[in-house]
Amino acid sequence: MKFPIYLDYASTTPVDQRVYEEMIKYLKYDGIFGNPSSRSHIYGWKAEQAVEKSRKNISNLINSDAREIIFTSGATESNNLAIKGSINFNKTEKLHVISGETEHISVLDTLYNLQENGIELTLLSPNKNGIIHPKRLEEKIKKNTVLVSLMHVNNETGIIQDIESFCKICKSRKILFHVDATQSIGKIPIDVSLIPIDLMSFSSHKIYGPKGVGALFLRRKPPIYFKAQIHGGGQEKNFRSGTLPVHQIVGMGKACAILKDEMNLENKKIKLLRDKFLSGIKEKNNILLNGDPINNIPNILNITFLGIDSKTLIILLKDLAISSGSACSSEKENSSHVLKAMGLNHFLSKSSIRFSIGRFTSKEDISFAINQINNTIKILKENSKY
Ligand SMILES: *Cc1c(COP(=O)(O)O)cnc(C)c1O
Repeated sequence: MKFPIYLDYASTTPVDQRVYEEMIKYLKYDGIFGNPSSRSHIYGWKAEQAVEKSRKNISNLINSDAREIIFTSGATESNNLAIKGSINFNKTEKLHVISGETEHISVLDTLYNLQENGIELTLLSPNKNGIIHPKRLEEKIKKNTVLVSLMHVNNETGIIQDIESFCKICKSRKILFHVDATQSIGKIPIDVSLIPIDLMSFSSHKIYGPKGVGALFLRRKPPIYFKAQIHGGGQEKNFRSGTLPVHQIVGMGKACAILKDEMNLENKKIKLLRDKFLSGIKEKNNILLNGDPINNIPNILNITFLGIDSKTLIILLKDLAISSGSACSSEKENSSHVLKAMGLNHFLSKSSIRFSIGRFTSKEDISFAINQINNTIKILKENSKY
């Protein structure tokens, strides 16, 4: 066992050994190190081949055309590109965008930035389980609504939104639909040939690939208004300039290929670990499970320990690597905007911890975590009696 036990897979994952072995072939002089944009020699051609193979691996996972994948530096950039790139500021009317209160900060901050530039913004609120009912979306659509951006799986609670219904509503009104699928890719099958999503963001480092690379799915047919946000050499069909990081891209491609084969088995394993963890904690403690009992992925558990300050508990649980919410927002926020949107008061929110399980979590890890949590809370409660 490796200590502290890593239960923070929703913030990032380690690179899989098979991904690592693939990546190191694309770094050194005796490997394939060329610039895929070099058209005049074999170093460039080989690098380009590797990039295209990865593009195919990624598109296979969502059943898209490989030409619909644009490489970026991660989901933050994909979200920025999807939202800013698809807003046509040349239009004279005021444009309206709809999103959700529980979105990732990289979507929310991008939208606030657009709001400063004159875009009208509506954020949908979820029910107490974190779910946004499709009716709520329907009610908020206006004549000037041009884009809807909603996430598939929430990174703090693991709840699954009904993107299929959202998509239907948008498409019947010719509104663009963007999905932040960073937490769902490789966990839930997504087939863009069946669901006509226009834009979808993912990241490599949440799926056992390297950090610093991600992708944006951009539907080709029908073509949409779309503008680059980074300008330069015209890579990625002019949509995202900059020399392609071949080793990173190859790593992301390999990570997707692995998930295509192993997703079902991995989900089953993680579900068993989740059930074991939850029943072990529930038995001895007064807890609330934040999220939806049905529409959730097994990887993420958001638990409120009633009457206990989560910051204190996290410090005392020194053999567990866990967090109170998302790593991305912990630099900015004191308490979670996601739990707040679900109606948790400040006090409950401050008593909540996110546990996220992944590929390398073992049964022993889970047993250890249960014992440490139960013992620590028991001591905390005994001390507070005096
Ligand atoms: C992690 C995460 C992001 C940001 O991804 P990066 O690749 O780290 O920029 C965006 N959205 C969700 C839902 C995430 O979990």
